[in-house]
Amino acid sequence: LIDQLYTLAQRMKHAGQKDPNTYNNHYQPNNSGTDGQGSYFGLEVRSVSLPAEKQEEFQNSPEFVEIEKELAALRGRSAADSPFRRRKLYAKKRILTEKEVRRWQKAQSHRPSGEHSSPPCYHRSVFDRVRFLMPERNRLASSLFETDTLRSPTGLSALRDMVALCEKEVEVEFRPGLEPEKCGCSNLVRLRKLAKSTSSNTDTRSTYDWRHIYSCYKRTHDGFAELCFLCSEWIFGEAQWRNHCQTHLDCPETLPVQCDPLVYGGVLATAGYCVFCMADPSLLPEERLHQYPDRGPWKDHVYRHYEKYVQIIADDGKPMKCPHVGMRCVSVFDSAKHLKFHLLDAHCPDFTKESSVLEMPEEEYN
Ligand SMILES: [Zn+2]
Ligand SMILES: [Zn+2]
Ligand SMILES: [Zn+2]
Ligand SMILES: [Zn+2]
Repeated sequence: LIDQLYTLAQRMKHAGQKDPNTYNNHYQPNNSGTDGQGSYFGLEVRSVSLPAEKQEEFQNSPEFVEIEKELAALRGRSAADSPFRRRKLYAKKRILTEKEVRRWQKAQSHRPSGEHSSPPCYHRSVFDRVRFLMPERNRLASSLFETDTLRSPTGLSALRDMVALCEKEVEVEFRPGLEPEKCGCSNLVRLRKLAKSTSSNTDTRSTYDWRHIYSCYKRTHDGFAELCFLCSEWIFGEAQWRNHCQTHLDCPETLPVQCDPLVYGGVLATAGYCVFCMADPSLLPEERLHQYPDRGPWKDHVYRHYEKYVQIIADDGKPMKCPHVGMRCVSVFDSAKHLKFHLLDAHCPDFTKESSVLEMPEEEYN
């Protein structure tokens, strides 16, 4: 049934609306990694990556280091052919990485499951973290797996959702808690929207601006107002906010496992949090649950806090443990480095400053 619906949906899609590659990506077999449900709904899955420890090993491999050296040599040089050579080197790097990822996936699939549980799957959790932004996909993710005929009520509702999904121009229309009507100056936005839609029909980008609505709504309240990105609720008053944060801290299962700020479809799904602050009872509740909407400041804070945490543990000669409060994470780590790998894989994807293997300066794409 799923395939039936899926082909239908594909046919209904207007040509050229989406990257043709996404279709193939959905059907690419993979043993670990992509979540089957998430990928059926065209979720833009990040390129599959290696666990942090493997990643570091790989980045220190002779082949990789060689490419990096060549790239460094080219940097700052203005020879006519250097952009071309740079592009070639990046392509080489990408191929090398993909090979390594495949090798790792293969090794995973041959390993008996059980005892050595594989690292948490980032892709699966991305879908789980953003599905609330997309009501149709959210429902489909369950309904498609509950029904076996199209004529059943669940089947029909799935079909309706599928059609609605195909007719949508943007992936995320708005974030719960930041509904467009929360903007006090909505007339202006509406005017702008109108001007935009008449000027070009090809532009399918949303004019929805979560950041504006967030600050606009905050501004319109005289006293303190804050949106809890965990439960999409607005809290008014500082004391109330403190209480609210305490409520989350009292129920660790309401705290995020993955603590990086996550933007999906141009909309902030979850704010970033600091795993270390979250675990520190000497801080005030609102400090422990400080929300970072932007990746840069989040990274800076978490990295600095990580260094401090590791230093204190080393000075005290205490065992190296995962600080996350809600999780019963694996016992004790051998070194700060292993703790870092765990944090990267499980709680704070790329909080370290090193850029990802596949990252390429913007201008290189042209
Ligand atoms: Zn406004
Ligand atoms: Zn909350
Ligand atoms: Zn912190
Ligand atoms: Zn952990």
